[in-house]
Amino acid sequence: MSMRAQDLGINAAIGAATATVWSLARGRGFKRAVLQGLIGGATIGVGRQVAASPFSGSGFAGRELSAVGISALTSAGSDHTTLSFPVGPVELQLTDGKEFDWRVNATYAVAAVVNSVSRTTHIDPTLSLYSGTFVFRDNRETLHTSNGEARGSEFFGGIKIAKSAFTNSNGTPNVLYHENVHVLQDDYLAFAVANPIERSILNQTSIGRRITRHIDVGLLSLGFNGLANSIVPYNSRPWEREAYALTPRRNY
Ligand SMILES: [Zn+2]
Repeated sequence: MSMRAQDLGINAAIGAATATVWSLARGRGFKRAVLQGLIGGATIGVGRQVAASPFSGSGFAGRELSAVGISALTSAGSDHTTLSFPVGPVELQLTDGKEFDWRVNATYAVAAVVNSVSRTTHIDPTLSLYSGTFVFRDNRETLHTSNGEARGSEFFGGIKIAKSAFTNSNGTPNVLYHENVHVLQDDYLAFAVANPIERSILNQTSIGRRITRHIDVGLLSLGFNGLANSIVPYNSRPWEREAYALTPRRNY
């Protein structure tokens, strides 16, 4: 089986499992949810392949497509369909095609502010537009990450690109397409798994309900992320394998 078909199949399976949990949590059955999840998961997979493709705006287009897939999973077992479109740390939501709402991820927003005021980084408006999230340029040759030296990194839904990534590139460094995939993977974890759990915990109190009206704290998804990264070594991470597999021969 081709690598792309295989990736699509895995995402469809993850989608089916996720939608089933959502439907059962709502006291509904699983038959419809499995089908809805397979379609949603496959849509997420297509979104990731688009985000990994080397054209201007691929990250943005892929992110919104993936978001439609994520919305299918989180709507499983519900009488309402809420489409949620992420732009940077903000989500614009449309329920049943008529009710408009918005949410903001506080942790992502704080990270963006920290990067904006950092002395080594500055925002790249064009690349941010292309990726549908904040892209920062770091004026150091490489980034010092927990996995060693890197040309790019993705953290809190934002992308950071080192200076050396821009040599031999006509404006858009190849590593951006790899990081785009990570943004979409984070979207799945945050929107389909971690944030809803965090909301249901906070909603136990009235002050929590006031916070969650428009804000996702985002600490649980951060915790899941940190835990997964500390347990699984870099070369064995399925999310790294996916990001590399979808961006073959990009030379970085
Ligand atoms: Zn990576």
